[in-house]
This record gives sequence, C-alpha cells and structure tokens, in this order.
Amino acid sequence: MTNVIETARGSVAEPLAGGRLTIDLAALAENYRMLARLSAPAETAAVVKGDAYGIGIAHAVPALLAAGCRRFFVALPAEGAAVRRAAPDADIIVLNGLFDAETAAHYARERLIPVLNTQSDLALWEAHGWDGEVPRPCVIHVDTGMNRLGLTLERARVLAGENALTGALTPLLLMSHLACGDDAGHAMNRRQLEAFQAARALFPGVAASLANSAGIFLGEAYHFGLTRPGVALYGGAAVSGVANPMRPVVTAEARVVQVRRAAAGETVSYGAPRPLDRDTLIAVVAAGYADGYPRSASGAGVPLRDRVAAGAAGWIGGRTVPLLGRVTMDLTMFDVTDLGPDAVAVGDTIELFGPNMPIDAVAAAAGTIGYELLTGLGRRYHRRYTGEAG
Ligand SMILES: *Cc1c(COP(=O)(O)O)cnc(C)c1O
Repeated sequence: MTNVIETARGSVAEPLAGGRLTIDLAALAENYRMLARLSAPAETAAVVKGDAYGIGIAHAVPALLAAGCRRFFVALPAEGAAVRRAAPDADIIVLNGLFDAETAAHYARERLIPVLNTQSDLALWEAHGWDGEVPRPCVIHVDTGMNRLGLTLERARVLAGENALTGALTPLLLMSHLACGDDAGHAMNRRQLEAFQAARALFPGVAASLANSAGIFLGEAYHFGLTRPGVALYGGAAVSGVANPMRPVVTAEARVVQVRRAAAGETVSYGAPRPLDRDTLIAVVAAGYADGYPRSASGAGVPLRDRVAAGAAGWIGGRTVPLLGRVTMDLTMFDVTDLGPDAVAVGDTIELFGPNMPIDAVAAAAGTIGYELLTGLGRRYHRRYTGEAG
C-alpha cells in the first residue's frame, strides 16, 4: 500500500543533501479524515497556503482530494493557480482578497473564489466578478475581533441591505477567524462566536465558516457549515496545553558528518558559550538555520535566549540528544555522549523533528510555533513522499 515516490521538484538528490524530509501523505489523509469526523455534519475544507504549510501543494492537494476534500483555502492568488493545477474541479478560495483589476482577471482565468475583506475588494468584485450576466461566487469576511482582515459588522450590515436589492454579489460563504482558538478557556472565543452569529443573521441562507484547526476542537457551536483546518492536517498542535491527537506528517533528519570528542572545559560553536562540564562526544549534522532549523533553538547558546536553560534536542538510537552551542547556517552539534562511544557514526541521521521529537517541542524550545517550522522548511533537503493514495 505504502508506495514511495521520489520527486525531483523542490528536492535535492539524497546523496548530495545534508538532510532528508519524509512527508507521510497517508498521515495527512488520516488527519483530514479525523478532522472531518470531528467537524461532521459540517463540511471540512483544507487550508493549503504557504505551499501546504511547507510540504508541497503538488503532493498535498491530490492526497487531500483522495481523502474526500473538495474545497481548498490559500492565502494568495498565485497559490490558487498552483492548487488549480492539482485540483481541476475543486473550489479554491483565496483568503487575502483581491489586489486590483488585473488580479481580478487572474481569478476569472483560474476560477478562484476571492474572500472579500475590504471596501475595495467589494468594489472590484462588483465590477469584475461576472461571468457574462452571471455573478461569480465570492466569500464575505466579517471581522469579529481579530482586527486583521474583514469587514466591520456595520459595513457588513450596509452591504447585506444593498445586496438584498441589487444582487450584485453571490456569497458562497460568510466567514470570520478566531484570535484565541488555541486557548479553549479564553473569553474571546465566545465573544467572537456571538459577533459571528449576529453577522450570519444578515445573510440568511448563506453557509458560514468560523473554525480553523483549533476551532474544530472548541466544539460543535463553532463548526457552522464548513471548517477550515490548516496546521492540524500537517500534524501540528492546534490547541495548547493538551496532548496533540494528530499524526505527525513531516520528519526532518540530518546527516551526521563528523563525530568528535571535546574535553570538559572546551566550548562548542560560535560565541564560545558556557564551557562543557564533562568530556563530550559531539555529533555534527549537516543542517542549520539555512534549512529552516531555527538558530533560536540553540537555547542558552544564543545570547538573546539566555533565560532558556536548554535548547532543542534531536533524537537518535532511541534517545533524546541535546543540542550543543549555537545552531549555525549549515551545521548543528548534538551531545551524543550518553549513547556510548561507538553508537553514532558518520552517515547516521539525527531526527530534528518528527514522530520521536515533536515539532511543537522543537518550536517551543526556539520560542516559536510548529507553523513557523513547517512553513520555513528549507529547500536543501532531499524530499521523500510516502503513503501516496492509490
Ligand atoms: C491560516 C488560516 C486558517 C488555518 O488555520 P490553522 O490554525 O492552521 O488551522 C484558517 N482560516 C484563516 C482565515 C487562516 O488565515
């Protein structure tokens, strides 16, 4: 069932690469189906912006289609065209809205559905969103507290009144976005839910969407007609402070290029931070911040993060191995002393994140979130896709 395919696109040949990304498309499909079960009876779309959170639209979209997904959200019109190549018949919704008249033509050509966020989006779509005499579908975004994109509730009220008369817009969906969904107890969630219900009343008969990944876990009241998970599809933790039920999709491993001994009192990496407190066996791997492995994961090795006692860790031979010193552009050092003198050899790989080293733990050590590690995955890895459907 699990067939392994190699891709030339965005992938470096394995013998020439410092690290390997294994992207498990079966886990992606399983995560989709789990989120769809949790969302039902609401429909579940997939957010594939940022090149499907770094894993590659060209592979993610077919896997999601095979798992039953029929609607995709992207951030930008250019991303919409990439999804269109992989999904000739799907609904493709572009979150960041229309930019100008020229972009509106691109929407027509690629049959993209814009999210109308602003007064200018509304005017552009009223002018350009026509297929001959027939208005093309759009999504109306109402801001309920995020203050990022979306019409105010007052503007939406005016629009609803006008549109009831003119019928200039054909909204497929009314949407809003949660600011604090990852914190189930946050009072903001209920406030946004109430504001969204008020907005919904303005557009009777139009389907609604509020929940991102985290919103799905807030429960049925937040699901409406369509949920739009992103990070949870890719195995990231959507909700903070609870066990992450999703299957990891991305495994990043880096090749060991040297194993060396350093004596107690010596230092490791740039800046010569805190001397080693014991004789140490160091595994040097060929990946660093140029591969999207964050420099801030160095923990105490980076002056700005002095307050963090330890940085991130890798995983090899059934053990967690702490990062030593600063992450450099192309190389990172790990302390493998506890594995014994001959356990690690040149050519072995250390897991930077994946099933044994949760991406969100590495992100937390680096002062960031799994989303940023995924979307920042470097272009120097060998990429291997497993678990392709069919
Ligand atoms: C990115 C995004 C999502 C997906 O969010 P996740 O937290 O990754 O599930 C959904 N809706 C909007 C408007 C977004 O910008």
